Amino acid sequence: MTNWNRVERLLGEDAMQHLAQQTVGVVGLGSGGGYVAVALAMSGVRNFILIDDDVLETANIVRHVADNRYLGQPKAGAVADLIKHRNPDAEIMTVHGRIEDHIELLGEMDVLAVGVDGEGSKFIINEAALESNLIAVYAGVYERGEGGDVVTIRPYQGPCYACWAESLREGYTMPGPDDVDLDYGQRRPDGTIAAEPGLWLDVVRIANTQATILLNILLEGTGAERPLPANTVILASRPIEIIEGQLTPPFGVEWVDISRNANCLVCGKPQVNASALSLDQLLGNEQIASTDTGEAQVTTGSDDE
Ligand SMILES: [Zn+2]
Repeated sequence: MTNWNRVERLLGEDAMQHLAQQTVGVVGLGSGGGYVAVALAMSGVRNFILIDDDVLETANIVRHVADNRYLGQPKAGAVADLIKHRNPDAEIMTVHGRIEDHIELLGEMDVLAVGVDGEGSKFIINEAALESNLIAVYAGVYERGEGGDVVTIRPYQGPCYACWAESLREGYTMPGPDDVDLDYGQRRPDGTIAAEPGLWLDVVRIANTQATILLNILLEGTGAERPLPANTVILASRPIEIIEGQLTPPFGVEWVDISRNANCLVCGKPQVNASALSLDQLLGNEQIASTDTGEAQVTTGSDDE
């Protein structure tokens, strides 16, 4: 039996009971998403829907919560097994497949952790989460783990992921149709991905922030919730220029509130059925205006393990 006394002492009995009723979806069970799922389970979350289409490979082992006992197994199942070893009472649905083929599961979640790498996948999830009125928390790790960001997207109460990305990531362009499954935008001439997104240490710093923010959302209304200053937090693993002209030191963070773009093709016109827009239409459309609200100058990238 799992003894929750110490967690309950911190969160309170009511909050623990509330958490036990909530379901967290995690899409992408790589080094970041796998950590988020296990960390939430160790904080009192009991119900999970874990979705990932990958199996654990040798190269993953040094940067994944699942070790070589799980080689060759679907990552979603491996993480579920790790959670079960912490909490045998956990209720976990695992899906070895792509989120695009299981969009209906979003309706069964209370909050969604997005741990996928491809910006194309994030845009698909964004549209589906808006349609399901589901709060989603996205994490991105920058090139070589120099930092990362975590954003909470509340449907129609602020930016959607599309206008957030457009605004925050200056110079960032939406992925072309060929890039839908690609991660961090750096391709070698032969088409393989060159980027190495970071050490486990750096990935986990971002993932831990993502998990903490998710837990805080789940605790809303319980008295254990802690108010956060903005919808986006940017973390520095090494000194990086987050705010223009200002160096944020290692372990420093900057909170940035990104506004919704009234002209966003995805969330700007709720009277239009956003889900009717195909990804190709979105990608091909030049009308997605960039706004000047993005103070942050960061490179984008994420992690695929
Ligand atoms: Zn939007």
